[in-house]
Amino acid sequence: MKKTIYPNHTRIFSLLLWFLFITSSITAQNKDNSKVEIFHIQNYFTEAYLVKGNSEKLILIDTGVPVAGYQDSLISAIKKLGFKPENIALAIVTHGHGDHAGNARFLQQNFKTKIAGSKADLNKFTSGKTELSKSEDVSIWGTRLRQYSDLDYPAFTPDIIVENANIDLKKYGFDGKIIPIKGGHTPGDLLILIGDNLFVGDAFVGTFKAQGGGLAPDGHHVREHFYHENRQLADQNLKLIEKIALDNKVKTIYPTHNGPVSTSELTKYIKEEPLLRLLSQQNESLNTEDFRIVSSDENTAVLTYIEAIKLEGKEAKNVFITETYSKEKGSWKMVKKEVN
Ligand SMILES: [Zn+2]
Repeated sequence: MKKTIYPNHTRIFSLLLWFLFITSSITAQNKDNSKVEIFHIQNYFTEAYLVKGNSEKLILIDTGVPVAGYQDSLISAIKKLGFKPENIALAIVTHGHGDHAGNARFLQQNFKTKIAGSKADLNKFTSGKTELSKSEDVSIWGTRLRQYSDLDYPAFTPDIIVENANIDLKKYGFDGKIIPIKGGHTPGDLLILIGDNLFVGDAFVGTFKAQGGGLAPDGHHVREHFYHENRQLADQNLKLIEKIALDNKVKTIYPTHNGPVSTSELTKYIKEEPLLRLLSQQNESLNTEDFRIVSSDENTAVLTYIEAIKLEGKEAKNVFITETYSKEKGSWKMVKKEVN
């Protein structure tokens, strides 16, 4: 099946920028019923979470891209929410990619913010290199976005270097901990559990959909990130994250991009991934991550993905494709295709 994919990368990048201009807030309940407020700062191709506990103290999870102007917009987003950047007791960078660690040095220098990061990504932090050449593209989105993603950023040394042991966040005023895992996205992937909220960096991402000729987040479903340094470990980590979530009665999981998602959505994704992989093999130009299962049972699967179509004389536009597959004599066949 021949697909028309986006005509050029500039268009994709601008589409991504177009939909990432939202700041939203989520209020969550802590285990002891104390209120934890979580603010999702989505700003210029990157995202961060600001977490507020019972005191004035704040925790920032990820710091955004090192692009000129973003430092100001991160700080103004924090101020607009009514908080002072000086009150960030700790900023945790979930891993050493530039769209997560990009402004760590800026925060250290300007607000004396303490930064926590994994020892396993120390080379990235101290060289200020994303080292994307170490990652493989795990979906067509990786290939499309690779040239924009290998960001260099101001080098820094974390104030708290996370090794193999969990770090208790009590000292920063939070009921929670930093959990280092054997990283698949990068070697230094960190998880952060605060109350019954689990932050997972780029262990996976939330989904987006085609809307009004562009892309819009529909961030409540799980999909694989576009890049991983060790895809096998990244796959295993989905099950580890699910276990940590279930053990700690976590209902909401926060991937840094396009989240949050519910724990049950992660369980659903883990269960459906083998079928996604199988069906994606039937379509030569699409990978698993470009599909999402809408519904499935033993004999029927309904899948969706985004496609750019170009009619003669017109601009290419993004459409949402729905395909229905049916199992016949043991193998899956597409029986219906709809374009919205
Ligand atoms: Zn990353």
